Amino acid sequence: MLKPALYIAATPIGNLQDVTLRVIETLQQVTMIAAEDTRHSQIFLQSINVTGKKMLSCHNYNEAERAELIAAEIEAGGSVALISDAGTPLISDPGFKVVKALAARGIDIIALPGPCAAITALCVSGLPTDKFFFYGFLPVKEKECMEVLGSFKDSQVSTIFYESPRRIAETLSRMAKIYPEREAALCRELTKTFEIIYRGSVAELLQTAQSDENLSRGELVLILGGAGHQSEPGLTPKAEAALSQMLAEGMSVKGASRVLSDLLGLKSKEVYARALELKNAR
Ligand code: SAM
Repeated sequence: MLKPALYIAATPIGNLQDVTLRVIETLQQVTMIAAEDTRHSQIFLQSINVTGKKMLSCHNYNEAERAELIAAEIEAGGSVALISDAGTPLISDPGFKVVKALAARGIDIIALPGPCAAITALCVSGLPTDKFFFYGFLPVKEKECMEVLGSFKDSQVSTIFYESPRRIAETLSRMAKIYPEREAALCRELTKTFEIIYRGSVAELLQTAQSDENLSRGELVLILGGAGHQSEPGLTPKAEAALSQMLAEGMSVKGASRVLSDLLGLKSKEVYARALELKNAR
């Protein structure tokens, strides 16, 4: 029998095999499962042979009241697992109010760690992992969003955002107004069949988001590199190849650098200097 406690259980973010043995055993043994969406969680629970459990819905709008029911279950000797739709509960997901209320009542809270889209994305981003900041979802309204994005202008660490495919192009275009040259990574459908990672400057990722149909659907994590991580000198290999091509096709240094800096939102002085170098090296 499980110790009476609240178990915070991380579940897969796509690939159903990404679940720990401890999570499976605990979900099989608890007396109750509190889930963000009880119907949605059935697919995962069935995949690990957890059926017929007492279920309780626990989402953003009923957390405070659910905390009472969960506490009552545990205080009566039961054990409750908290799961969200995907990944680690409480990380841009419900659970904080429940944990706070139960901890205040002296109830044990036990974490069963596992998948989290933010950490999964950071590990494959190619951006520094030694120090990082997790922001989660940006505000939707332009003014608030720009204020938040502006606060990362001088940040030296990688910053992790969750973003919806409907808003990704707009978010990147807002970022490109402030720091077009910053290195970034866009991680789509992590652990799933169509997982793909796009790496490049903010301006390049904006272009990708505007032209690649894939980015209009699926789940996304966007990581912004620190202010020390700009593409050099505003030119990534892709941008440099485009510049070389324009020069090879006979465009003037001035013309080619203007086209590229307008297109990618790069500093025209830096692009011009690089175009001149390329021209002289021919
Ligand atoms: N608690 C979850 C976690 O631990 O990652 C996050 C929940 S939050 C409501 C959902 C967001 O996480 C999505 O909109 C997306 O930004 C990100 N996400 C979740 N699964 C993902 C995946 N497989 N690939 C990319 N991003 C994912």
